[in-house]
Amino acid sequence: MQQITLIKGDGIGPEIMTQAVRVIEASGAKVSFEQAEAGMAAFEKHGVPLPEATVASLQRTKVAFKGPLMTQVGEGFRSINVELRQTFDLYANVRPAKTWAGVNSRYQDIDLVVVRENTEGLYAGLEHYLTRERDIAESLAVVTRKGSERIIRYAFEYARDNGRRKVTVCHKANILKYTQGLFLKVAQEIADGYPDIEFDNKIIDAACMHLVMNPAQFDVIVTTNMFGDILSDLTAGLVGGLGLIPGANIGREAALFEAVHGTAPDIAGQNKANPVAVILAGVMMLRHIGEHSAALRIQTAVEQVVAEGKSVTADLNPGAGVGTDAMADAIIAVMQTH
Ligand code: NAD
Repeated sequence: MQQITLIKGDGIGPEIMTQAVRVIEASGAKVSFEQAEAGMAAFEKHGVPLPEATVASLQRTKVAFKGPLMTQVGEGFRSINVELRQTFDLYANVRPAKTWAGVNSRYQDIDLVVVRENTEGLYAGLEHYLTRERDIAESLAVVTRKGSERIIRYAFEYARDNGRRKVTVCHKANILKYTQGLFLKVAQEIADGYPDIEFDNKIIDAACMHLVMNPAQFDVIVTTNMFGDILSDLTAGLVGGLGLIPGANIGREAALFEAVHGTAPDIAGQNKANPVAVILAGVMMLRHIGEHSAALRIQTAVEQVVAEGKSVTADLNPGAGVGTDAMADAIIAVMQTH
């Protein structure tokens, strides 16, 4: 039985995570959840946003299933998401986006994965003011050969393991010649070791335009931290919104699975949030721990419920607009009939 650290999170977190856990338990996967706290909920209860007990739980289980955490903009405590990624060196952030039957999106033929470097770049956390008046601020982007090698190798290995044909590195090496230049150089070197996988590179701004105009040309995208953060929201938008996009944060020792979306404060506590993104994060988690048949059972049921479009939340079909719990009920009901 694999133990999993469960962090329900803030905002819509508790609603969607409760339903996702029900779905995972109904799939027959051999897992047990150990509840832990982080974010605003932990701060209000314990005075710290990342209690030691939560870190200790993840050190023990090595696998976390996490809801979104609220981060104060521009002030207050540091992002706990960033802290968790750095504490456990979760260097690879994998965010798949594909078009779905039954979902109204601009394109029908997207099936791509953004592999984002998760520990360095502009999100390394090295920020300060240069003057006492705090009118000049500086953030340092850090790119290392070691960090670049492991994420780019991860992207190529992911492509091989998942039957994908192409890796595109997105960068800004024309302007940021040192940091982005190093990332691109390492990508070109590593690509030579994978002759079976097509490789190309795109400057990040051009990549955004190509993604909007002809997204089917992309397969696996590998990029630095902030570009990956932005690109994965863009790709989420191309396939019908944040409610469908899961994410995995993978390190050598531990892994953490979550949705790409945030706490959605505008709909929190109203039983309106789409649970699919966290359920699919759960599917990625089950594959990570080798529970492949349970993962497939859930994914097939989710696809059927979304394609039918009747028992779905309002973001997918305003005409249906069932509750978070009713959508999970429908997914569980489909699993029980197979
Ligand atoms: P958001 O993703 O929370 O919301 C953006 C929009 O998408 C909102 O209109 C929201 O209602 C909608 N939305 C998001 N998830 C949905 C779902 N499951 N079903 C239906 N609609 C959904 O982004 P935001 O408003 O920029 O951020 C809110 C908070 O979340 C901030 O504090 C931010 O720091 C945090 N955040 C956390 C994570 C994380 O924990 N991994 C990720 C992103 C943002």
